[in-house]
Amino acid sequence: MVMQSPTNIKSDDITSDQIRAEQVRITFSSVPASLLAIIINSSLLVVLLWNEIDHSHLLIWFLLTNGLSVVRWQLCQQYKQSGQYPAHERNWYRLLVITIALSGITWGAVGIWLFSQSSVLHQVFLVFVVGGMCAGGVATLSAILNAGRSFLVFAATPIIIQFMLSSHEVANYMMIMSVLFLGMLLASLNRLNKTITATIVEALVSRRQQEIVEREIRYQAEYDESTGLPNRRRLQEILIEEIARASISDSVGAILFIDVDRFKTINYGLGHMIGEDLIVQVGKRLTSHMAAADTISRTGSNEFVVILSDIAANLRLANLPVKDIAIEYHKLLDSPYVIQGHEFHITTSIGVTLFPIENMDAGELIQYAEIAMYEARKDGKTDVLLFSEEMYDSVSQRRVVEKELQLALDKYEFELYFQPQYDRNNEVIASEALLRWNHPARGLLLPDQFLEIAEQTGLIVAIGQWVLRTACEYQAMLEPVSDQKISVNISPRQFGNVRFNEMLNDIIEQTNANPKQLKFEFTEAMLLEPGERASDKLNQLKTQGIEISIDRFGTGYSSFAQLNRLPVDEIKLDRRFVSGIDSSTENAAIVESIVLIAQHLKVRLVAQGIETEAELNYFKGSYCQDFQGNLLQQPVTFTELLASTLK
Ligand code: C2E
Ligand code: MG
Repeated sequence: MVMQSPTNIKSDDITSDQIRAEQVRITFSSVPASLLAIIINSSLLVVLLWNEIDHSHLLIWFLLTNGLSVVRWQLCQQYKQSGQYPAHERNWYRLLVITIALSGITWGAVGIWLFSQSSVLHQVFLVFVVGGMCAGGVATLSAILNAGRSFLVFAATPIIIQFMLSSHEVANYMMIMSVLFLGMLLASLNRLNKTITATIVEALVSRRQQEIVEREIRYQAEYDESTGLPNRRRLQEILIEEIARASISDSVGAILFIDVDRFKTINYGLGHMIGEDLIVQVGKRLTSHMAAADTISRTGSNEFVVILSDIAANLRLANLPVKDIAIEYHKLLDSPYVIQGHEFHITTSIGVTLFPIENMDAGELIQYAEIAMYEARKDGKTDVLLFSEEMYDSVSQRRVVEKELQLALDKYEFELYFQPQYDRNNEVIASEALLRWNHPARGLLLPDQFLEIAEQTGLIVAIGQWVLRTACEYQAMLEPVSDQKISVNISPRQFGNVRFNEMLNDIIEQTNANPKQLKFEFTEAMLLEPGERASDKLNQLKTQGIEISIDRFGTGYSSFAQLNRLPVDEIKLDRRFVSGIDSSTENAAIVESIVLIAQHLKVRLVAQGIETEAELNYFKGSYCQDFQGNLLQQPVTFTELLASTLK
């Protein structure tokens, strides 16, 4: 949707119909005052001319004049009831001009029917009353030039003609005065009409600008700017309507929650522009594929939700078609993209929920589709997953973990284990701190079982702070007996915290740790965040003597140029490429290219997750300098680590 800028609105954009509608509105608003003036003046005339003019003439005139007023009053009421901007403006306009002209004629009739040929005093009185009505007409009718003009001309001309026909000398002067007066009133009417029209145009321009601004604000609140698709908020509204429709028509719809996997890595590795281009293309593919009744929405940076309406008559029958549709979407999205001349491959995970389901609102349904998507992604092999009963359990389990995690720090349930990293001479050069949770009921939990939740809830910042403090305390304790470094995994959210470096300095000072004996492990995506922030933070660490390691290398999209700019000391190969390296030619090829990167950057290469002698031998025969894995040493407690160094 292309938005018109409010500053682009000019008076030329205002149509004559819009101006006419305003003129009609203004004129109708002055009808009650006009009618009041008519009833007062017509009554006065009747009273004052009662002894001068034939009663039947007076009464017929009075009834005609005020009868017309009744018609005008009713018209005014009908106009008001039809709303502020009723349709058929032209009809209202015509009716106004006709009834006002008729009103002019009734006042013109005064000059014919009620004109006293004998009494100059009465003639003067008539001139005053009709003149007053004409002057009032200028004030109330100037919005519509035709109405005002016809009123003035019809009301004033008969009196002027009467004076013209009269042989009385004063009458000639009266005629000249009346013509001059009429001319002046017509000129004023013209001028006033111009001013009113200009004010109307100005008001319409500013109203239009305001409407555009309001529409833009509404659009921004409800639509995603890059793809033009509805956002999560709008989606929720649409889904509420869809659920209601499905309940009434006894049909079943579905929600597909689509996630573009590892989008952050693409975004940081190749740049935000390419990331957004990719998302726009994904959005276009989805839109081109959807049925007319379906809705596609972008709910997050790399998330889309599709609402499919009316896919089956009941929930049981819906499973098969929805899976087929989801697989079609999956195939459609996973075929290569071309962005800025480069071919690109992505993978997607899709979670599905059906609706309507009793007692489940729109928000919950989207959440369940999202959970199904997470499960699909976690699984790694399944791309499309339907939300199931078991997932309810995992959701509630997740909520329990969330609650328990919040208390675990206070209850001292966390512990650090250490896994040594060996050099080619089998010397321990560093030990990696690995977090464990001594759960009171479930025993020792590995990071896989709670770290993602900690990251999502933000608890990772506090937990990471505890890890850093404990690792620093242990480093200070190890310092006198071993020169091995302590390696700490740093989470994205923890590193992204603006107070990260400040908090680290406080910890180092309080624990007396030696920063030169510390090593921090970051993932590729974290370091390649655009802008100077990440590299500034890293340089600060580097100047303190802390070593920088890139963990799980090979899963991102980092380029030489980007890595070259960062103060990296070490690259740790992702465990996926280490496992079975001796028999996998595909992994060997990847490892060889990573070796080239490490050589080019002049950094150490670490093979982690070594489980077999064959793997160890393979890496010993390559450029790798350091080795880590269960074959060499499984993670141990700090006491055990300390004991092994003292041996
Ligand atoms: P990582 O940084 O890649 O750590 C290495 C993981 O590989 C550890 O898993 C370790 O126990 C495991 N490992 C080492 N040798 C072998 C092997 O020979 N075979 C197999 N199968 N696995 C091996 P762990 O302790 O479960 O940690 C998993 C991940 O959790 C870590 O991966 C790290 O990314 C994260 N993590 C651990 N502790 C922390 C922490 O204190 N803070 C943060 N932010 N993340 C942490
Ligand atoms: Mg690590």
